[in-house]
Amino acid sequence: MNIEEDIGVDEGGEEARLVSSRACHRESSTDFDLRPKRLADYIGQEGLRTSLDIFIRAARGRGEPLDHVLFHGFPGLGKTTLSHIIANEMDAGIKVTSGPVIERQGDLAAILTSLQEGDILFIDEIHRLNHAVEEILYPAMEDFQLDLIIGQGPGARSVRMDLPRFTLVGATTRTGLLTPPLRDRFGVVLRLELYSPEELVVIVQRSALILGMKIDASGALELGRRSRGTPRIANRLLRRVRDFAEVGSHAVIDARVADAALNLLNVDAFGLDDMDRRILLTIIDTFQGGPIGLETLATVVCEEKNTLEDVYEPFLIQSGFLARTPRGRMATVKAYQHFQRPLPKQGAPDRRQPSLFTSEAGE
Ligand code: ADP
Repeated sequence: MNIEEDIGVDEGGEEARLVSSRACHRESSTDFDLRPKRLADYIGQEGLRTSLDIFIRAARGRGEPLDHVLFHGFPGLGKTTLSHIIANEMDAGIKVTSGPVIERQGDLAAILTSLQEGDILFIDEIHRLNHAVEEILYPAMEDFQLDLIIGQGPGARSVRMDLPRFTLVGATTRTGLLTPPLRDRFGVVLRLELYSPEELVVIVQRSALILGMKIDASGALELGRRSRGTPRIANRLLRRVRDFAEVGSHAVIDARVADAALNLLNVDAFGLDDMDRRILLTIIDTFQGGPIGLETLATVVCEEKNTLEDVYEPFLIQSGFLARTPRGRMATVKAYQHFQRPLPKQGAPDRRQPSLFTSEAGE
């Protein structure tokens, strides 16, 4: 039995961006259809899948709930999908919530007391739980006990309750954002990596089949290459390319159709969109390749500092277009080549960025 109950999920911004890896509200219903339901159907993340399979089998064999699991990785890589897979594989119910929507200790207490033995509690963006709520979670995770203070002042009393044994599955974009006491209470910590274009090809083909679309290997590869290593983006681009194919009466999506559609959508050969290009070209053309401070960059491209750091930079850094150095952000040689800009002269007297010519893409 897999009872899913969604206890309110915080709606992130940034929905308008086609290559955003964050979930968009409109996609949630089709997302559900596209999600693999079993571990055997889950594509990629080989090492993680093998480990999880062993832990699930061992827990089932002992007739015990799975240890608490923490998934970390960029948005859209499959953390929510895996939490549902765990519930299916453990034949357990699942309750889904997220850090920012649990505002008070009472909110979490209500969720915890509604769990059944063996249930999965999935908390997305677990690093955004507030401190008071986190404190309730420690004894709940460790001893399946709920400690609550009822009332205030001299009349306040503490109440201790037994909870059913449950599995907490937490998801975060970075483990470093979690407080150490919370992180230490997870028995299993698994990191999701960006997917290779070949893995994304399989995901695109599977999604196309579910959505009743015809796409050939060349079309799937074009989408796989331009999806920033992220299944959510691959699925989103697939839907947009389908619109393009339908309007243009293309019976099959091949590389030519996919390329034309993605060009129209301003998603380039590396999956960069307008904002990525603006960031990189600002550094190259206005600041001679950098280094440039985050604050200055944010002002020039008219974007929030945090959004630059959390949304745009990770992919640009991972894909080797941007370097984050102690002195600021720098465009790499790959970025110069991508935009066909001449490389600045090495050793020029005003060069302030010796590491530009190393292959290091920063932290
Ligand atoms: P996250 O929770 O990390 O933001 P999700 O689990 O919501 O990511 O995944 C986003 C979408 O990508 C889902 O709709 C799912 O269909 C798809 N997806 C993620 N991982 C895989 C995978 N390994 N195989 C197939 N589809 C996947």
